[in-house]
Amino acid sequence: MTNLSPNGLQILQARYLHKKETPDDLFQRVSKHLVTVEDNNHDLWFDSFYGVMRRLEFLPNSPTLMNAGLPNGQLSACFVLPVEDNLEAIFTTLKNAALIHNSGGGTGYNFSKLRPKDDIITSSEGSSAGAIAFMKIYDTATEYVKQAGKRRGANMGILNVTHSDVEAFITSKSDGKSLRNFNISVGITNAFMDAVEKNKNWQLVNPRTKKVSKTIQAKKLWNLIAEQAQKTGEPGLIFLDTINHDNPLPKQGKIECTNPCGEVPLFDFESCNLGSINLTKMLVHDGKRNDIDWKKLGKTISIAIRFLDNVISSNHYLLPNIKQITLANRKIGLGVMGWAELLIILGIPYASEKAVELAEVLMKFIQEKSHKASGNLAKTRGCFPSWNDSRYAPNTLLRNATCNSIAPTGSISVIADTSYSIEPLYALAYKRTGILDEKTQIEINSIFVEKMKSLGLWSKEIQDEVIANGSIQNIKYIPKEIKKLFETSLEIPWKYHLLHQRAFQKYTDNAVSKTVNLASNTTAKEVSKIYNTAWKYGLKGITIYRNGSRAIQLLHPCGVN
Ligand code: UDP
Repeated sequence: MTNLSPNGLQILQARYLHKKETPDDLFQRVSKHLVTVEDNNHDLWFDSFYGVMRRLEFLPNSPTLMNAGLPNGQLSACFVLPVEDNLEAIFTTLKNAALIHNSGGGTGYNFSKLRPKDDIITSSEGSSAGAIAFMKIYDTATEYVKQAGKRRGANMGILNVTHSDVEAFITSKSDGKSLRNFNISVGITNAFMDAVEKNKNWQLVNPRTKKVSKTIQAKKLWNLIAEQAQKTGEPGLIFLDTINHDNPLPKQGKIECTNPCGEVPLFDFESCNLGSINLTKMLVHDGKRNDIDWKKLGKTISIAIRFLDNVISSNHYLLPNIKQITLANRKIGLGVMGWAELLIILGIPYASEKAVELAEVLMKFIQEKSHKASGNLAKTRGCFPSWNDSRYAPNTLLRNATCNSIAPTGSISVIADTSYSIEPLYALAYKRTGILDEKTQIEINSIFVEKMKSLGLWSKEIQDEVIANGSIQNIKYIPKEIKKLFETSLEIPWKYHLLHQRAFQKYTDNAVSKTVNLASNTTAKEVSKIYNTAWKYGLKGITIYRNGSRAIQLLHPCGVN
């Protein structure tokens, strides 16, 4: 029997379990579906897939848990759709996005091909509504098409820094109401970063006429981005040249877009399915202390890669275009969850060199083992069909054009009862509003409580303090090194957020979804520094959240407003 936490069970009941299903039935349904594409050893693979999920060691992205085994079950979380500069294409994409959202997937779009606002429309002699107006239509449609009847779809909207409408795009969410179902990011190039550093002018171009519509100081545009991000948390940045530097299939063209949370750069119509290993289950008690169980981790990676490859083969594709490119490239994204809790168990503070070093060692191991597992699959199942066009040909056999992504694990980490993705703990205690009954409950992080008990430091006074403030930093008698171990997201300097993102990115084929959480008094100048450092660190994208700049739902960290 699966040993679920009350929250894990509640989220499964509210959104994932089919009629009369238990959590075990769910994991069996998924496993049964995935072994249909195995040629032999069905029982063995069933046991492997079911085992890793039941023990909460590995979980695939939500659509796989929700839809596997259903007739025409759509299993992928991530899609990118094209937005061409004509009315028919814009609304065809809107229709396709509605179908994807309805199935539990999220969509990313780059709007940079659209002619700017007020540009001429030849057929009607009118003027164009522009990218932002069309984004608003997509946004409204998203509002009304609930994902699999359970949650709203997520969208990523990108506009390149060269586009005539980029200034309006940067401020498009400044009223705090518009484009709520969109994450927005500016598509940044190295040429732009160079112009900012050298204080040069920057040209905005109309994509239809290719003519310069405005010349602006690059720094002025950069400052507008930083000021806006300081105010509202958006726009984020997507570093297009860094993404294309790592594009495994440059012959298929340039990548211009990512999925909603940024962890998968994709071509138009491409989809990707994700899965994450729960790091807190990858431990061995070695004499007196805990250590990473590398053998178990290696085995879990190999099962997870096969699992995700089977998802591609057993998926129902909503459009012929999606099917064609997804089956040609077979991209998957294996990542992690529970990183912060693993560090706490190992006694390593998140804001430390030791943690950053371990992040690199760990992700390098995961990437190497993922590629090895994908290579082994290639030997029996064949390389991904576009392999000849890829950077891996002719020497490196792979079944999948990409193997790794670090996803936010917004839901699956709740099911697995661990910390999100590679994020630090946001607080040591939360007020959580129930999904089913809307009752508010106080929860104290159980790994924190266990660790404090093992150190002989747990008391009623500490319990009251974390419920009041979500933190132990103000308790005088707690030793410095213990306080350091339990620093929460806002107490961790932004540099360490970026260092962790960089460490994981270094060994991640796709990208890392990470939010740099900032204290409410963070200035636009600091945001500018953070965004610049993100580029210098070779990150593929950057997202920040300044505390208090937007309403957070469901989860309210104690002591943080
Ligand atoms: N996603 C979505 N809607 C949501 C949450 C996620 O469409 O409400 C998609 C989106 O593409 C995101 C991806 O799922 O980048 C992975 O998100 P996450 O890891 O949080 O998903 P989970 O599998 O935990 O539900």
